[in-house]
This record gives sequence, C-alpha cells and structure tokens, in this order.
Amino acid sequence: MPIYEYRCESCGLKFSVVFWPPDRPEPRCRRCGSTRARRLISRVALLRGEEDRLDRLADEAAGLDEDDPRSVERWARRLGKEMGEELGEDFEQALAEAESEASREESAAEGS
Ligand SMILES: [Zn+2]
Repeated sequence: MPIYEYRCESCGLKFSVVFWPPDRPEPRCRRCGSTRARRLISRVALLRGEEDRLDRLADEAAGLDEDDPRSVERWARRLGKEMGEELGEDFEQALAEAESEASREESAAEGS
C-alpha cells in the first residue's frame, strides 16, 4: 500500500497519507486545515523516521526533473549516503550502470 508524503503549502507541515483514492477530496493539513498540499514523490515515504537531516533531501526530491537522469542520480547517491547500507549493493550497482550509460552517451555525442 503506497504512502504519499505531502507538504502543506500554507504552513509547511509535512504529513503522510496512506493511499488516497482519486475520487476523494485532497488531503487536509492536520495543523492548519489547508487543502493546498503538494505531493512529494512516493519514495520519500521510505525516509520516514529520519526526519531532520533527510528533510532537505526530501525537499529536493520534490523539485527533481525526472527527465534529467543525472540530477535524479546525483540526488539518489546522496540519499544512498544518508541511508547508509539500507539500500544495499543492488542499488549501488544500478547507479553505477546508469552512470556508465550516461557517460557513453556523452562521449558518443562529443564524437559526432
Ligand atoms: Zn498547514
């Protein structure tokens, strides 16, 4: 069951909502009652409990350009550092592959 993280645009409170059906009203901030909440990317839900030092990364995640793999990758690497071993070797491997893929594309573009 997905957990979505929202940040209230009125008071800045971050809160989580467990799967919100699309035919329901938008989630309401439990501090100020505003419905102007912005959904953060769902993987941020993994960070619950690490609050302070990861809050900044969560904010950045909300602003990531998903069409720019390099910026997503940079963010993911820093996330990996913050999370320590929890993401495991598979995660490192996937990042390494994405990275070499990106540099191959870059050198191909330079050569043309
Ligand atoms: Zn609020």
